[in-house]
Amino acid sequence: MEKKDLLIIESGDITQPFNYAVGLHGSKFFQELRDKKRIVGIKCPKCQKVYVPPRRVCGPCFTEMKEFVEVGPQGEIGTFTILRYAFIDPETGQQKPVPYGYGFIKFDGADTLFQHFIDLEDESKVKIGARVEPVFSTERKGTIRDIEYFRVVN
Ligand SMILES: [Zn+2]
Repeated sequence: MEKKDLLIIESGDITQPFNYAVGLHGSKFFQELRDKKRIVGIKCPKCQKVYVPPRRVCGPCFTEMKEFVEVGPQGEIGTFTILRYAFIDPETGQQKPVPYGYGFIKFDGADTLFQHFIDLEDESKVKIGARVEPVFSTERKGTIRDIEYFRVVN
């Protein structure tokens, strides 16, 4: 029988920078986040559903949306998980420190869930329905990491 070699691909120090357009609605969302630490969604004129982040068309109504609305900044945990097993973070190529929380947040005034990290300072408080708020980066660049994570508020 022929011996098979395992193929291992390591990212090492090689970087593969890339850019992509976030569009009109994504640009508005990230500019507000970066410049004003505000969370904006968009409201459907037909069914009144508020989407965060904003998008162009309401799926159920197939209606174009143009009304940006501020939501949050607080909200509640819709669902979450706590990661306890270390793995290589594809964003950094380094081992991701564990444990960490990750969940879906429903901002006050929004109808959709927004994914992000959840702080585990007091893990017993991380529950479905727990009130949370975003912790903004001090140096914001117009990316999703302008929010460092969400923390539970009492
Ligand atoms: Zn709609």
